[in-house]
Amino acid sequence: EYADISLKDIDQVSKSSFPLCMRHLFEKLREDHHLKHGGRMQLGLFLKGVGLKLDDALAFWREEFTKKVGSERFDKEYAYAIRHNYGKEGKRTDYTPYACQKVISSAPGVGDHHGCPYRHFSEDNLRAALGRMGLSSRGMEDVMDKVKNKHYQLACTLTFEAVYGTSCDAGINHPNQYFEEAQNVLK
Ligand code: SF4
Repeated sequence: EYADISLKDIDQVSKSSFPLCMRHLFEKLREDHHLKHGGRMQLGLFLKGVGLKLDDALAFWREEFTKKVGSERFDKEYAYAIRHNYGKEGKRTDYTPYACQKVISSAPGVGDHHGCPYRHFSEDNLRAALGRMGLSSRGMEDVMDKVKNKHYQLACTLTFEAVYGTSCDAGINHPNQYFEEAQNVLK
């Protein structure tokens, strides 16, 4: 089990331990103060999976969204869905975070930032993102090779191995697994 992530650490933790799909959503949310529905679901359930408590989740999304929409509209349009994801509204289902397969098979449209960058980014954008994660040119070519062969989870696994300097024999199959393995390495 992992220590619950707290709001004051979330930016630092996103940089140190999130897989690229979630880093991208996180950065876009901080930048645009908004995410469309697919992004809110993908990132929101992931954050729930890393242990962000409901109250912190509401504070986190509120802080960004109210820079654009005002807090009345946030409460009306967005807070319900966040509580819903935590099983506090509607059918009270405890929704689980998306596995890689689901993220990879999603179909982000214009203005969407969800999905798997290995599958959905242009080559230039993916190379730039991998560079920001600190990959060497050799490491990057290995990743791009997997991408060209449509082995997106293997590309993510190689990224993990390059970033943390350790092997990941199980392979990456879930964004929350990536996070947990990263936290293990950094501990
Ligand atoms: Fe995220 Fe999985 Fe894609 Fe990695 S392979 S970026 S964890 S969806």
